[in-house]
Amino acid sequence: MPDFIFPPMPPVSVAIHGREACFPVHRVYCVGKNYAEHAREMGSDPDREAPCFFSKPADAVVPGLGEIPYPPGSSNVHHEIELVAALGAGGRNLSPEQALDRVVGYAVGVDMTRRDLQHAAKDRGQPWDTAKGFDYSAPISPITMVEHGSDLQRGRIWIEVNGEIRQDADISDMTWNVGEVLAQLSRLFELRAGDLVFTGTPAGVGPVNPGDSLRGGVEGLQEIDLLITPVRTAGAENGGIDPGQGGRSGIGADCRHWPDK
Ligand code: MN
Repeated sequence: MPDFIFPPMPPVSVAIHGREACFPVHRVYCVGKNYAEHAREMGSDPDREAPCFFSKPADAVVPGLGEIPYPPGSSNVHHEIELVAALGAGGRNLSPEQALDRVVGYAVGVDMTRRDLQHAAKDRGQPWDTAKGFDYSAPISPITMVEHGSDLQRGRIWIEVNGEIRQDADISDMTWNVGEVLAQLSRLFELRAGDLVFTGTPAGVGPVNPGDSLRGGVEGLQEIDLLITPVRTAGAENGGIDPGQGGRSGIGADCRHWPDK
């Protein structure tokens, strides 16, 4: 081990349903507009656009159970419920079948989005980082392990805000299925064990506010259950790891402490 001038952050990790071991996160990739109805609600033609990829920092991943703060710098933050594929191996230029064989599990995530900043970035041709890659922007459920190569072909995907259904669709509505999404990603990046891939959201995205509770899931997987708390104004002590309630308290070794539902 090299010497460090301050302690490095512990690895970001996600709990695995029914297992003691954690899933160590390498990168977080996301695909935009992968459900036709959502592409239409965002003003795009779902038939003619290739998948649009973006990423979030690994430490935007937080447990989808407990509390996450509303981000600063926005007055229009949207929920996007998504199926998340977790990779146990990687590769380049994979076929959809080869890519699916790298999937070790699935989870449910929310691609939290500063929609106002995303619209402004689109208008100006600027990058999406501030709209998509902010702190606490990738809450995720525990991962449900699957047999290598198994695909989730269908299943209800849904999210409710304060008990009211906002998004309700089926993952069979995806324009590009999981294998196709991963295959296309593998032509742009070398995929690695530990990558998480958010596979896009169905129609019905909408705003959340401090005080709102979010509950959502994909049939057969663990649910997310979140409370949005007010914007945080102070940083973590010493600029280090935030030990606060929910959110980042669940990364690293804490992933084991996620109560199984
Ligand atoms: Mn999304």
